[in-house]
Amino acid sequence: VGKLAGKTALVTGSSRGIGRATAQRLAREGALVAVHYHADADAAGSTVAGIEAAGGRAFAVRAELGVPGDADTLLLAVEAGLKERTGANTLDILVNNAAIMGGVAPEEVTPEQFDRLVAVNAKAPFFIVQRALGLLPDGGRIINISSGLTRFANPEEVVYSMTKGAVEQLALHFAKYLGPRGITVNSVAPGITDNGSPVFGIPEAVEQMAQLSAFGRVGRPADVGDVIAFLASDDARWVTGSFVDATGGTLLG
Ligand code: NDP
Repeated sequence: VGKLAGKTALVTGSSRGIGRATAQRLAREGALVAVHYHADADAAGSTVAGIEAAGGRAFAVRAELGVPGDADTLLLAVEAGLKERTGANTLDILVNNAAIMGGVAPEEVTPEQFDRLVAVNAKAPFFIVQRALGLLPDGGRIINISSGLTRFANPEEVVYSMTKGAVEQLALHFAKYLGPRGITVNSVAPGITDNGSPVFGIPEAVEQMAQLSAFGRVGRPADVGDVIAFLASDDARWVTGSFVDATGGTLLG
């Protein structure tokens, strides 16, 4: 029996990348996983199919984050999917993973780009947590994905990093607020992780990125997903409000 047998989970942005690896690992531990996506239904479908082929349980939910009403749209779909499969709307594990990056020189950032980054990366996670409060049972888990860039300078990602700094505040304040219910709230910060985007197909670029890690390689999605799965488990019941460095030693300098 897996460590998460009988549990339910929502992983935002789990059609690919770190989110997908997280959904796969949670499902392997026995959780029923809501695989959230926005644009790429095929990717979400294949994530669900892969989980089912491995003997796990999952379903896809579509919702655009960063628009008015996003959290409610998402959680309504999750609740419907959970009720259909479990008869209840209890959500044991919430992983706020979906995010967008900047990649714009500081001089070029527009107010519209700034607002979009804040809306998807910081505002949506807050309201998803708020909306999920009534679904989380005692002993529930909230894990928010930050980035090593809250501690490692990259001027082209200054706004993205501001949004991740904001997301890290969720762990501090909600950990205190939800402690009496035994709900833990933590941040996980990945370093450079091969999410399948084109840059990871360029050997010279990968070689350079690999040097940033103490281990001399770029991260694989499962390197981060396994850490998230630990925090989601009962083994991590005494860890709350923490910042977990999952950068492969990138922050060691
Ligand atoms: P990807 O870019 O590979 O995947 C992003 C996921 O989020 C997709 O499932 C995508 O769905 C979804 N998504 C993006 N925008 C929206 C939106 N507006 N509404 C709804 N869903 C959306 O992500 P990664 O695996 O690279 O990153 C996962 C997390 O890890 C993020 O929080 C990221 O900031 C963080 N991180 C990643 C690092 C890396 O090197 N990869 C390094 C440090 C942190 P769809 O495709 O359907 O739109």
